[in-house]
Amino acid sequence: APGLMNGKRGVIMGVANNRSIAWGIAKALSEAGAEIALTWQGDALKKRVEPLAQELGAFMAGHCDVTDLSTVDAVFSSLEEKWGRIDFVVHAIAFSDKDELTGRYVDTSRDNFARTMDISVYSFTAVAARAERIMNDGGSVLTLTYYGAEKVMPHYNVMGVAKAALEASVRYLAVDLGSRGIRVNAISAGPIKTLAASGIGDFRYILKWNEYNAPLKRTVSIEEVGNSALYLLSDLSSGVTGEVHHVDSGYHTIGMKAVDAPDI
Ligand code: NAD
Repeated sequence: APGLMNGKRGVIMGVANNRSIAWGIAKALSEAGAEIALTWQGDALKKRVEPLAQELGAFMAGHCDVTDLSTVDAVFSSLEEKWGRIDFVVHAIAFSDKDELTGRYVDTSRDNFARTMDISVYSFTAVAARAERIMNDGGSVLTLTYYGAEKVMPHYNVMGVAKAALEASVRYLAVDLGSRGIRVNAISAGPIKTLAASGIGDFRYILKWNEYNAPLKRTVSIEEVGNSALYLLSDLSSGVTGEVHHVDSGYHTIGMKAVDAPDI
């Protein structure tokens, strides 16, 4: 879609490396003509994000660790200084202790519950609040969620509870920001092998299970999530807000899974 995003500027938060969903989104937006800013979490990831930013001619907007809200403030100040106004924000950030992304949900600790909710849920609201102040009317805000918010998935545990709260946040934020024409949506992506996903127990098996049972008989790529994000971040979806859009090869539509994944 060359030209679809001409004249639009925004920030993509959550690129860790070239396997990140946020990177798939950054590429799709850039190809469509958007001007992009990226954030990174800490010096180690900065080294990975820098060459990716160069590839797209993206602005390095700053270190961002959402547990320290002064870093979120700093990012939006630097965006305001650079561009004045922005048109879109992508939030592709989540974290939970990997020791609790296996076994039983009931064993979740209070500390990790609170940290998971802070990083994976509250941060989206904190980002939306700051984005609203410098966003043009008609802007678009997007986050990433997973089917484990709706149904129990093995090992997803506290992250499923967090994603349910994140999806509820999408609806509340859609109302709050809607009067200015700012839209708030989520993509519920099927499983993709990324850094964050490698913390989830039996992830390879989950990928295979999806491959065998999704209507499209395969998993999705970060490029496919990127293309759907392009729709939600562009004016093509100007009538869409408060929505959780599944990009999962149709997996969520299946009631009775028919085929077991072979042993791997
Ligand atoms: P990823 O590891 O590439 O990205 C996760 C990002 O979260 C990283 O860039 C990391 O720096 C950032 N992050 C974690 N804690 C942070 C903090 N305190 N402050 C700032 N940033 C922080 O993995 P991904 O799979 O691309 O994850 C992106 C989003 O997509 C997440 O919300 C994830 O839950 C969601 N998602 C992933 C899948 C999947 O199967 N990979 C499926 C559905 C949804």
